[in-house]
Amino acid sequence: MSLTELTISQVHEGLKKKEFSAVELCRNYLDNIKTRNKEVFSFLAIRESAALSEAEKTDDLISNGQETPILAGIPVAVKDNILVEGMKCTAASKMLENYVAPYDATVVSKLKKQGAVILGKTNLDEFAMGSSTENSYFGPTHNPHDLSYVPGGSSGGSAAAVAGGLSLYALGSDTGGSIRLPASFCGVVGLKPTYGAVSRYGLIAFASSLDQIGPITKTVEDAKIVFEAIAGRDSLDSTSIEPKIENWKLEIENLRIGVPKEYFVKGINPEVEKLVKGAILKYEKAGARVIEVSLPHTEYALPAYYIISPSEASANLARYDGIKYGFSQKEKSLLDVYLKSRGEGFGAEVRRRIMLGTYALSSGYYEAYYKRAQKVRTKVIEDFQSAFKKVDVIMTPTSPVLPFKIGEKIEDPLAMYLVDVYTVSINLAGLPALSIPCGQVGKLPVGLQIIGQPFEERKILAVAKFYDH
Ligand code: GLN
Repeated sequence: MSLTELTISQVHEGLKKKEFSAVELCRNYLDNIKTRNKEVFSFLAIRESAALSEAEKTDDLISNGQETPILAGIPVAVKDNILVEGMKCTAASKMLENYVAPYDATVVSKLKKQGAVILGKTNLDEFAMGSSTENSYFGPTHNPHDLSYVPGGSSGGSAAAVAGGLSLYALGSDTGGSIRLPASFCGVVGLKPTYGAVSRYGLIAFASSLDQIGPITKTVEDAKIVFEAIAGRDSLDSTSIEPKIENWKLEIENLRIGVPKEYFVKGINPEVEKLVKGAILKYEKAGARVIEVSLPHTEYALPAYYIISPSEASANLARYDGIKYGFSQKEKSLLDVYLKSRGEGFGAEVRRRIMLGTYALSSGYYEAYYKRAQKVRTKVIEDFQSAFKKVDVIMTPTSPVLPFKIGEKIEDPLAMYLVDVYTVSINLAGLPALSIPCGQVGKLPVGLQIIGQPFEERKILAVAKFYDH
């Protein structure tokens, strides 16, 4: 097996047995980046010498006979909306093109404490707004399975890095599907944790009540390892909590799988439907019970998401005013500084969201849009609560469509928003969900989404592992 194919636990064992060194492993990935990043464009910034010296530290510990943590010496790619001290953190925006992070995000400091080797920062849709990674100021990322296709978004750089062998694993963020969708489009595993399971400190905010950081990995087991490394209460994020670590053992004959009827309707690609149903059948054949459930407010979740997330974004992005942070256009009047800096610093999709959100929150429209969307959010939460009275997990496709061509949807924001139809409800409800590959149509991967109750990451990981192996 080549070094690039190894999973986290295989690398951990290999390092321990001195079959290879962390420096060799790091060089292997840096070489892969050198040969492939030009065409895939996963990485916006590469951290060569710092990564190699981090790898050396692990090698030193091992040669001194010390035990090392599971992620020690293992290369990781970090989405460029998560702060790594001393590195630029651009959020793929002209606004933050030259912004250097003054501190580490909590997830990054947790990985560094284990001895992780940070390879660099990955491309995304500007401020994580998008489903294809085409909204990056620096240019689109390409799907490593076929370079003319999108990798999904917004964590497309992270997913493409893992799928293309440019990093062993990666961190992404998910506000409405941005970990799961690119994982699905790139044929890798992506876990969006329960809201509050992972600290958001040092994540550039998009929509604070929906954002979560999570792992993108080659296998379910790797996702579990990374999740456990980054999860937990952080005094720097008051919405984070210490989840109960309860290991959950899968007994397939006692597993009840919910399949929501609203997710298998007109508009779903028939080949996606076939592969996802085939995956669910695998569980059924092994003894699990498949139960049809109803999530009746599904059709309202997407419109509610596209009111709530731009509303929060319009508030979060108010800080980029040409004075406090980032890109600044020098003008005579203060108002002109604001207008020019924001008008030129933000791309078209970000400006669209700021306008949508500002409108939805403005007096006179607040009740009609924002407040109603919040009521829908409560209905969506209740839908899941009643479904979970009957089932242990819920399975759906991650996306109703196959990966699409670069350029195919970028001029049509509504078509792009519809790609998120199966992922946004999970963020509205704050639930954990993961996407695992369940087959391919030609070269194009398809993902199965497994949804659990709050803080039941271990359950959905155990259920996913059954399929993975
Ligand atoms: N595609 C969705 C959006 O554009 C979700 C983005 C995300 O999860 N960050 O809002």
